[in-house]
Amino acid sequence: MQLKTILNRVEYFKSFVYGKVRWVDDAARPAIEVEIRPRKNSRPICSGCGQERPGYDRLPARRFEFVPLWGIAVCFVYAMRRVECPECGVKVEMVPWCDGKNQLTTTYRWFLAGWAKRLCWKGVACAFHTTWQNVFRSVKHAVSWGLDHRSLEGIQAIGIDEIQWQRGHKYLTLVYQIDEGCRRLLWAGKDRTTKTLLRFFRMFGKERSARLRFVCSDMWKPYLKVIGRKAGQAIHVLDRFHIMAKMNKAIDEVRAAEAKRLERDDYEPVLKHSRWCLLKREENLTEKQVVKLSELLQYNLQSVRSRLMREDFQQFWEYSYPACAAKFLDQWCTRTMRSKIEPMKKVAKTLRRHRELILNWFRAEGAISAGIVEGLNNKAKLTMRKAYGFRTAKAIEVALYHQLGDLPEPEFTHEFW
Ligand SMILES: [Zn+2]
Repeated sequence: MQLKTILNRVEYFKSFVYGKVRWVDDAARPAIEVEIRPRKNSRPICSGCGQERPGYDRLPARRFEFVPLWGIAVCFVYAMRRVECPECGVKVEMVPWCDGKNQLTTTYRWFLAGWAKRLCWKGVACAFHTTWQNVFRSVKHAVSWGLDHRSLEGIQAIGIDEIQWQRGHKYLTLVYQIDEGCRRLLWAGKDRTTKTLLRFFRMFGKERSARLRFVCSDMWKPYLKVIGRKAGQAIHVLDRFHIMAKMNKAIDEVRAAEAKRLERDDYEPVLKHSRWCLLKREENLTEKQVVKLSELLQYNLQSVRSRLMREDFQQFWEYSYPACAAKFLDQWCTRTMRSKIEPMKKVAKTLRRHRELILNWFRAEGAISAGIVEGLNNKAKLTMRKAYGFRTAKAIEVALYHQLGDLPEPEFTHEFW
């Protein structure tokens, strides 16, 4: 079997034929060169308008990199024709294996992009002896094709979240579709301002926004404002993940403040010897240790109590009736406000302020499951970690769309990846 025969199976062109196949010795990496010729009587197609046009001249032969075979580079070699187009003037012809001035064939780009879903970009570049830039461009190409060809119909529920992509308050706003059976990243945009989210709604369109039934978000004010304005008819849910995250942050604050206080007041020795104070039975403690223990308990109390409050709150999510949940929420807030633990009081105040949106959780009647946004958020973080080395928000956006966008791909005669 000849290589040409295989190529005709996996990558057949109507108006072009494969010619000579040549082995090229290269110290760095051997290559197989495959000549391409226009089929007899076929006329070139103008790249400006896509019409068949009379030929004008031919450019010197060029190499187009194709999917490597057994670790050997494969290149198509073809001398592009130029056409004389009455509409576009003298233009380079359009060829089916490549677009524009690209050095990589379209199939090879999809091949690299396909692997970039499984490996980190650097890994793909290494595995196929190509550059990081080539992998990046291939993914970008796959993403822009996918975005152009995806459907945005029938979306009923979206989740809005932000993700920090660099130290110093550099955020991206992410909008997910969170419908049962279709969960994907719909949009990513720089920053987390009112303007950022407005850009999403502009892309999404008025009609689609009006058909949204559920919007899920955190308590970030600019988001709340825009959601109210652009999707006022939807049930706006503040989701569980973000509320519990707020609480955890508060507990962290309490603990950090406590630790600081201990350090400031030179309580380190107390902490150091606290182990025995706590382990020993009370009757075995010396008088001095009893004093230390009571001091320590006083300091620990806030962290411990905050934790207990959080555990208590978990019950909230178990309710089936909004009215019962509301009653629980109010009681929890009242209890917490009496606690004298400032960070937790702050949480209670926030919950009170967003009471209705929080209770929407129950009004959505299970349409929004607890882990959705959290799950997608974790995937996004993983993608960013895998995309180590990115410097620009744009590159991260591309990586996120590629990994989480569930974007369509064109149909190929042969699946190379
Ligand atoms: Zn033309």
